[in-house]
Amino acid sequence: MEPARAPSAGPAAPDPIERLLLSGLRGRGGAWFPAAVKWRAVRVEGGAPVVVGNGAEGEPGSIKDRYVMRTRPQAVLAGLGLAAAALGAREAHLYLKGGFAREAEALQAARGAAGDLDLTVHRGDDSYIVGEETALLESLEGRRAWPRPKPPLPAAVGLRGRPTLVQNVETLSRVPDALADPEGFRAGETTLVSLWGDVNAPGVYEVPLGTPLREVIARHGGAAAEVGLVFPAGPSAPPLLASQLDTPLDPDALRAQGSALGTASLLVLGAARCPLGVAVALSAFFERESCGQCPPCTVGTHSLGRVLAALEDGRARGRDLADLAEVAGFMTSHGYCAHCRTAAAAVSGVLARVPGEVAAHLAARGCPRGGGAGDPFAAGSPERTAIEAALARQTA
Ligand code: SF4
Repeated sequence: MEPARAPSAGPAAPDPIERLLLSGLRGRGGAWFPAAVKWRAVRVEGGAPVVVGNGAEGEPGSIKDRYVMRTRPQAVLAGLGLAAAALGAREAHLYLKGGFAREAEALQAARGAAGDLDLTVHRGDDSYIVGEETALLESLEGRRAWPRPKPPLPAAVGLRGRPTLVQNVETLSRVPDALADPEGFRAGETTLVSLWGDVNAPGVYEVPLGTPLREVIARHGGAAAEVGLVFPAGPSAPPLLASQLDTPLDPDALRAQGSALGTASLLVLGAARCPLGVAVALSAFFERESCGQCPPCTVGTHSLGRVLAALEDGRARGRDLADLAEVAGFMTSHGYCAHCRTAAAAVSGVLARVPGEVAAHLAARGCPRGGGAGDPFAAGSPERTAIEAALARQTA
């Protein structure tokens, strides 16, 4: 039997990769890289390609991939089948965190939607870093989930050395619609947003791309307090201030504001929280989740945390900020994966947004608010507990 094909792709239909390009579909794993470009890179390598669906969701606050796997497993599998057909792949894998039993069950039950593929659903590593595509491939090959140095990219040297497409599960779930009606898809594109933090109704929401952040928050979650900082990508990009909430929920618009959309793990934090305390929590997250492979990442994340803690408790002096900038600059161009430079950008980004707060901490020799930022990024925090409860409710 032939692998699954696009529902609307009749004999005269253009190449599926061209249709995907026309649809404008971009990857929802965090990078928003054009899916068609990724597919084409695998196809030009030839050989015996492999398709891997990445369901190892782990960004703090993000629940959208588990939502997709629980509620739209047929769409994920159909997208996987269409990707395999477009690339001539006969082998496919779905990689999930070890704890994602319910998601694995839903995907297994829907596996027929992928067509005639040699398909395996894996429940693997539970680490944060396994969501990085090369760490995932290492884990699939039975090794520790450590990111590989790049290049080569997985498109050229992926699973067991074969050209490999690694695609996020939400992205895969959108492939059938994108191929069926590329122009319509482009005109009405939506994305899933995990809205959490100081909001009245945390949860996952389908939002048209381009909706102003202010509207996303007001319509879906409702801010529970005066807004201070908004992290559109969870911990993985610098935040915006309340004055920037007219920025559209769009990867390019957010990049233009010095932030990013990432996995759309939209964290809202109230103005009563100390931004520097939030930066301390952010820095601790990156230090905790570093895989430990590259010294610039392990030492750098630790150094960022040390300076921030000193700022928060009054031991810092002006020169410490220069040291922090130097460390962050070094981290930006080092590390096997994006974790190192993301840590530097996110932490520096908080400080850059609130120069008055930094000056006030230096002048007061401590936090003028007396601390109390909390740590929304920690496992088991009230904020993460609330969004996980929302996932359970919305997929009950
Ligand atoms: S940059 Fe950090 S997380 Fe990435 S491979 Fe190096 S040590 Fe690991």
